[in-house]
Formats: sequence, C-alpha cells, structure tokens
Amino acid sequence: MQQADYQLIIVGGGPAGLTAGLYAARARLKALLLEKGATGGQVLITDWVDNYPAFPEGVNGFDLIDKMTAHVDRFDLEKKFSTVTSLDLAQDVKTLFLENGEQLTGQTVIICTGAKPRKIGVKGEEELRGKGVSYCATCDGPFYRNQEIAVVGGGNTAIQEAIHLTKFASKITVIHRRDELRATKILQEKAFAEKKIDFLWNAEVSEIVGGKTGVESLKIAHKDGTTSSLSVTGIFILIGIEPNNEILPLEQLETDDNGFIVTDTEMCTNLPGVYAAGDIRSKKSRQIINAAGEGATAELSAEYYLGHLE
Ligand code: NAP
Repeated sequence: MQQADYQLIIVGGGPAGLTAGLYAARARLKALLLEKGATGGQVLITDWVDNYPAFPEGVNGFDLIDKMTAHVDRFDLEKKFSTVTSLDLAQDVKTLFLENGEQLTGQTVIICTGAKPRKIGVKGEEELRGKGVSYCATCDGPFYRNQEIAVVGGGNTAIQEAIHLTKFASKITVIHRRDELRATKILQEKAFAEKKIDFLWNAEVSEIVGGKTGVESLKIAHKDGTTSSLSVTGIFILIGIEPNNEILPLEQLETDDNGFIVTDTEMCTNLPGVYAAGDIRSKKSRQIINAAGEGATAELSAEYYLGHLE
C-alpha cells in the first residue's frame, strides 16, 4: 500500500463527522477532520432538539454541537478548518484538493458533507434573500418581533420552526401544498394548539413581492385554480434539503436520482475505502441520532478496511 498523509480523512464536521472523528481518535488512527466553517452543520441552525437521547429536557442545537465538539477534543482529534474543492477517490490512496492549493492524501475517506435547504424557485426568492426571505428560523426569527410572517412547508423542519417563531412574530401563516402535514404527530398537535399559527392548505407561493424595505407580500396559487395575496414581512422557506455534493467526484461515486450518496448498511460506497454518513447519504430518516450512528458505523468500516490492507 502506498503511503498517505492520513489513515482516515473525514470531510464535514456535523454530527456524523464528529462521531466518526470521536471513534477514529479513540482507535488512535492517524485521522483528520476537515470542516469548511464551524463544526455543527445543520444542527447549528436548529433552535431546539427534543429527540436526542440523554437530554430529557431537550437541548439547544448549538449546545449539542458544543458538547459533541468538546467530546472529540478530549481525545485530541486533529481538525483543520479549510474548504475542500475536489476529491479523487478512485485510487488506492485518495487525494483531497483544498482551496489554499494544498493536497492531502488518505487511505480512507468518510464523506459527511450534509445537505442544504431546498429553494422554491419563484420570482423574488433570490432578489429578496436576506431582505425577508430566510431559510433559517433560528438565525433570523428575532428580526420579526410583532410582525406577520409566513412559513412554507409541512415537514418536521417547517412545523418545528413555525412553533419556534411564535416567540417573535405576531402571526405565522404556514403555507402547505397539501391538506395534511408530513411532520410528526407531536409537532402537529403543538402547532394546531398554537393561537398564533394559521394554516393555508393546498396552496403554493407563486411570487414573493418586495419593495424598498424588503418582503411586502406573497402571491399565492391555490389548488382550485384561484389566486390570492398575503401581506407578510418575512417568509421562511423550509421545504426540505438538497445534498452538498458540489465538491464530490460524481463520476466516481454512485448517487441516487437526487444526488445523495448510495451506501450499504455499513456506510460503504461503491468505492473501496470510501464511506458516507449523515444527511449526504441516500436514505429516508434524517435525524441527528441517525447521523451520529452512521458516523460510528462508517469509522468502524474504515478501521476494518485499514486492518485488511496488504
Ligand atoms: P421534508 O420532511 O422533506 O419535508 C419537506 C416539506 O416541504 C414537505 O411537507 C413537502 O410537501 C414540502 N415541499 C417540498 N418541496 C416543496 C415545494 N417545491 N413547494 C412547496 N412545498 C414543498 O423536509 P424537512 O422538514 O426539512 O426535514 C428534512 C429531514 O430532517 C426529514 O427527514 C425530517 O424528518 C428531519 N427533521 C427531523 C426533525 C425532528 O425529528 N424533530 C426536525 C427537523 C428535520 P409534501 O409533504 O407535500 O411532500
């Protein structure tokens, strides 16, 4: 086997990457975790996590990541804050190209690059981004104190964040394209009981209308063919996620129709020595606990592979 800088390189420092890093550090692998920004991923923009075991009262997303990061730091995992621009994963030794021109090599790689919010793709969405159009209730909610706003989506994220936004806004209209929510029942019960939340069923935003101060109203297309207008100063678009796969060699890696990486149950991709964990994987359940579990599984698979190299 050719020499490499590291036995294992983990790309991405969300719950999957941090857990893979924790296992690698405890296994005393020569391992590196690469993260372009702060560790944490999407959890950092989650106000409240109520379903991560061992936190009976729930935990703030930021605090959960703080604890996960402190945990890997206790075992001295090497971390580097740098953006990966591309990867060559098809050879025995994998090469990662960094923004600063540096190249790093690893015998194994775990991809934990996660996902990002999906857009609705209507007029006004790009133009008014940051001026009333938001994809993060935790980040931007406090700007909408005593204002009327809208949330688009019917999944866990939309409903959880609509409930969170009741702390600030005077009224929240949840706009959903069907007549029933996808969100888990306990969140639905909370949202239906919340006086500040209204629902606009069978409806889609067809345009976001703004003026000098930002978002002013939304054009709504109803399923029955009618249209209407809704006056709001903010719109939170929370309609699911897309894979962070731009840096990945998609000609080498097998992905599903939506660009998420296909793995087996041991987190092995189609390429020997390459694993994927967390939201970047093709799968149904996207939970923090899944991401962490998959990070552990991926690292154990990498260890097994390293143990069988000639
Ligand atoms: P999601 O579960 O995929 O839900 C997306 C929602 O947006 C659906 O209601 C969908 O409508 C709607 N939608 C999709 N595309 C749309 C479009 N172009 N226009 C209008 N509406 C559109 O996504 P998510 O809520 O972001 O959650 C992502 C993952 O994270 C899920 O696996 C979720 O369970 C998980 N998550 C879990 C928690 C938790 O456990 N507390 C919290 C947050 C997220 P339809 O229903 O009609 O398809």
